[in-house]
Amino acid sequence: MLRLRVTDIKQYLYCPRIIYFTYVCPVQKKVTRKMQYGTEAHLELDQLEKRRTFRRYNFKDGQRKFHTALYSPRLGLQGKLDMHIIAGGDIFPVEFKHSSQKPSLNHKYQLVSYAMLLEDEYNKPVRYGFIYIDQGQIITVDVTPNARLFVKETLNKIRLLVLRELMPNRVREKGKCIDCEYRNFCGDVR
Ligand code: SF4
Repeated sequence: MLRLRVTDIKQYLYCPRIIYFTYVCPVQKKVTRKMQYGTEAHLELDQLEKRRTFRRYNFKDGQRKFHTALYSPRLGLQGKLDMHIIAGGDIFPVEFKHSSQKPSLNHKYQLVSYAMLLEDEYNKPVRYGFIYIDQGQIITVDVTPNARLFVKETLNKIRLLVLRELMPNRVREKGKCIDCEYRNFCGDVR
């Protein structure tokens, strides 16, 4: 089974072609300003988060763990989670997203994927997690049976794409291509 990363799920849901450029015909992607800003902002957020209470997550108390490397042989999936909280004997994944807009579907399933990795790591169910967006807003994401199924189906689709070695069609939403780090390699994107 091809070992995949949680970011592959996020990327596939953004545009399947990115998987092609990652595994089938690897290219050197361009580092965009957005990516650079994301790394710097992540470091600041880590420092801020360490000093905060758990009230914003609706917990009286808890323990935070940062940048945990996770791997599930069952799913053939690995990833590094921004943060997770252990509170009242339960576990909650937290992802930081640098945007003031509501998280899109690919961010939601990225979080669900981390929840599934945490379940295998701790051997306990994860019921929900959080996406932390700029300005301190926290969005709760439920980890439902359907969401778990969607993640597993996406992993199958990614592996099939890699196996077939065919370049997928470009995304229909042209706006996605504007700030895409793979844009230079898409001859049909103007
Ligand atoms: S430029 Fe557009 S079509 Fe090409 S990989 Fe990026 S999002 Fe997909």
